[in-house]
Amino acid sequence: SLEEIQSFKGKYPKQIWSLFFSEMWERFCFYGMRGMLVFFMISQLNFEEKEANLQYGATQAFVYAFTFVGGLFADKILGFRKSLFWGGILMILGSIFLAIDPHTYFFFGLSFIIIGTGFFKPNISTMVGELYKEGDSRRDAGFSLFYAGINLGAFLGGYVCVAIGKGYMLNDVIAEAHRWNIAFGLAAVGMLVSLINFYFTERHLGPIGLQPGHPQAIVKTKALPKWAEYLVYIGTLGAIPLIQLMVSKTQYTDYFMYTIGPLTLLYLFYEMTKVSKEERHKLIAALVFILFSIIFWGIYEQSGGSLSIFAAKNLNDTLLGGLLHMDPNGVNNSGGALFIIALAPLFGILWIWLSKRRLEPNTIIKFGLGFIFLGLGYYVLFSTRFFAVEGIASLDIFTLALLVITFGELCLSPIGLSIMTKLSPAKLQGIMMGMWFLASAYGQYVAGLIGANMAEAKEGSSLVEQLLVYTESYKDLGLYSLIAGLVLIVISPWIKKLMHGVN
Ligand code: GLN
Repeated sequence: SLEEIQSFKGKYPKQIWSLFFSEMWERFCFYGMRGMLVFFMISQLNFEEKEANLQYGATQAFVYAFTFVGGLFADKILGFRKSLFWGGILMILGSIFLAIDPHTYFFFGLSFIIIGTGFFKPNISTMVGELYKEGDSRRDAGFSLFYAGINLGAFLGGYVCVAIGKGYMLNDVIAEAHRWNIAFGLAAVGMLVSLINFYFTERHLGPIGLQPGHPQAIVKTKALPKWAEYLVYIGTLGAIPLIQLMVSKTQYTDYFMYTIGPLTLLYLFYEMTKVSKEERHKLIAALVFILFSIIFWGIYEQSGGSLSIFAAKNLNDTLLGGLLHMDPNGVNNSGGALFIIALAPLFGILWIWLSKRRLEPNTIIKFGLGFIFLGLGYYVLFSTRFFAVEGIASLDIFTLALLVITFGELCLSPIGLSIMTKLSPAKLQGIMMGMWFLASAYGQYVAGLIGANMAEAKEGSSLVEQLLVYTESYKDLGLYSLIAGLVLIVISPWIKKLMHGVN
């Protein structure tokens, strides 16, 4: 029963491993696919760099925008587990289309992955929150562990897929003509492993995610009839051509982004009229976190866009002063993830250690620190220009930047997941998690615009000038990030009040 699950002894509930591994392999698929996008568009589909950045931003924006839809349908109709399964199946299908013929099915396959991620990603995250009682101080540590799982998958998929596709890895085993097929196919395999793992371990989750609504909610959401469920499945498939149209033409992405956010906000305001005053305050606090996270991801998410072009052109391929040779794109995709895996347990321990001594910084301060590290990381990226030879910068310094940025990510991202589950009333859990990821959608969208600007600014210039253009922008982004961090720290007392004791 839920009571048994939530009164676990020790540091982590054992059910977390089921979610950990499923999310790990889902992220293998997702980051494997996404790490290839910009490079594939430029080298295989002959997109201009500017265009590729916008397209990339659009796909990622849609991925995260659909988490809102996925969260909503899970709350109202499917429940978390069915949502997760349905999402996984769509992601497998999408990856298979891409594996069969990535040139022809590029946007078609991506559309499946986009909507599939929407059903999968927010709901598995919410289930992690369900493993804990309200006020259990071990929750943040649990999310840190879960976040390590995310990044284990991101690390493996992010390096291997792009390195195989580019022919940097296994190039004597796989014929050139098949490299990209195999690379996308590998993403499909990852997703399959995720679902198989979930299938065999989900029974440990007891009542969690079986029904729409939440096991501990006093008012249970009434289960809708079966046909509602099938309607969701059919509706999803019917939406795919529309999604394909919207991702492949970026002006439609613009319209979409202009409307989806305001609409979801309106909807949330409507839901807010139906909750108590205290719950409303908490939701407002959650919204502040959500809004700031847009800025965070807009800066952070240069990683798959402009940084991926930067890595391909302006970086050497030696690490640790020449000790190792690595594909710079692979490092860009995976370096941060590796640092997270190494550091997340330490952060988990640190938060618990601090909270035992009543020293744990509250979530707002953690967010502020997140921005400050992010900003410092971008200053390190800026500094690559001082150690470059003929426009080729050092992969070592670049990797150092990833490390600093990772500190920032760990102060914000897992904490963000955790705080959403703490600040939302039971019946709005899925939707609020969707909102959290919707902010990522806007971040990704903004990131694409910023990246496209950079691509435009450096068009036709030499490698040396390109390096200057990029690093100049990274310096600006670093500054914005520091400012955002300070603002958060300054307004923290006010948000703290809104949180009514939630930390
Ligand atoms: N890197 C994290 C993940 O994939 C967070 C992504 C996000 O919220 N933008 O889960």
